[in-house]
Amino acid sequence: MKSLRVAIFGAGPAGIYAGNILASSYENVSIDLFDSLPAPYGLIRYGVAPDHPRIKGIVNSLHEMLDSGKIRFFGNVEFGKDLKLEDIKRHYHAVIFATGAIKDAKLRIPGVELDGSYGAADFVSWYDGHPDVPRTWPLNAEKVAVLGNGNVALDVARVLAKQADDMLATDIPDNVYQGLKASPVTDVHVFGRRGPADIKFTPIELRELGEVEDVEIVLYSEDFPEGWFNEEAEGVTNQHRVMARILNSWLERESTPAKRRLHLHFWHQPKEIFGENGKVTGMRFERNGELREYPLQAIYRAIGYFGSELPEIPFDDAKGVIVNEGGRVAPGIYATGWIKRGPVGLIGHTKSDAMETIENLVADVETLIDPEQPELQQVLAALKERGVDYTDWAGWLKLNQHELGLGTAFEGPIERERVKVVDRAEQVRISHATGI
Ligand code: NAP
Repeated sequence: MKSLRVAIFGAGPAGIYAGNILASSYENVSIDLFDSLPAPYGLIRYGVAPDHPRIKGIVNSLHEMLDSGKIRFFGNVEFGKDLKLEDIKRHYHAVIFATGAIKDAKLRIPGVELDGSYGAADFVSWYDGHPDVPRTWPLNAEKVAVLGNGNVALDVARVLAKQADDMLATDIPDNVYQGLKASPVTDVHVFGRRGPADIKFTPIELRELGEVEDVEIVLYSEDFPEGWFNEEAEGVTNQHRVMARILNSWLERESTPAKRRLHLHFWHQPKEIFGENGKVTGMRFERNGELREYPLQAIYRAIGYFGSELPEIPFDDAKGVIVNEGGRVAPGIYATGWIKRGPVGLIGHTKSDAMETIENLVADVETLIDPEQPELQQVLAALKERGVDYTDWAGWLKLNQHELGLGTAFEGPIERERVKVVDRAEQVRISHATGI
């Protein structure tokens, strides 16, 4: 059996699942998993909302996969800068890109560039303590809009509406807690461009919205005419039925005054964001042929993510994905996860995706070209020569312990399991520290 060296870029769920499936489907393989960030877990560490411990818990199984020793992790290494395609060809038989989708899809309406109009992906990166985004976020709006009817819109709306103290038990960095605590927000308006039967939320996430402390859910009867939900309609799933029941129960619920309100509006097609002195003051929508205006001071666009192009790798600008067929990009080059199929689906869905890519890679093994420098030490020497301050698995174990230690040491009204280290240089320093 040919001995195989494979590099994976992107240490989020897609990359780790691909590595794990490859390790169990081809015996004679050595896998190096790179990430541009110093720590592993990608979307789970930097995309899943901090108050979703159940989903964050997927980290435990990913940890086991990396701790098994079958996949070697190296962080703080960027494809195209620290390792170029020619380097990959020199050191590996194949590369798999699992770099995900971290940008916001563009909303092409007037006023989108105004101050106070934000991409949800940027806000998520801020509250999840991503090292490459500014540490401050202007939370000074009382009336806020969230555009989109997917789970990211729900995450953003919930985090904006929630009392900061209810987030303190999570791993949010201190500046995020302080920022949310000072937020004067009173009303969060979520706008869907289609009707309540066409929401892209999932039931657990929708139900959770109705359980947020001191937040009243407001629905509008104009969006729910008699027979608004047709059980028999094509494409209706059990999930839709459950969500229709949740919405109906909210419609029947008595209004209870709360500190903050979360409004769900439907059939609102975004038309224009308007402002004064460069700042957002409101937004115009079209609802069934009629124009509606809402005074707002901030607008979060949660209308989908978009993938980023990688140097020298064929990219579909319209879809935001690497051009591929079943994960095959070019000889020796593969893709998996959101950068392969677009930013849709839950984390578990990337497993079947990885299976397809790996099946194709294994089928291609005999055609893969032997690299000139297949030893791990040769890649690491190249990185060192270029002054790349890469982290490794032992380093992550130290950083992990450090963050858990910060959680234990936290003195306050609540127990905290972990407090995240945000700064990139500090993460690298802790990963390299001796004697921890
Ligand atoms: P999504 O589920 O695709 O939702 C995007 C939303 O934006 C849709 O409601 C879409 O409306 C709307 N939209 C798109 N273009 C628009 C436009 N020009 N104007 C107005 N609305 C527009 O995407 P997502 O929320 O970014 O989530 C991505 C994936 O991650 C999803 O599979 C999601 O379930 C998953 N996720 C899961 C969780 C969780 O499990 N807790 C949390 C976050 C994300 P249409 O339906 O009309 O196209």
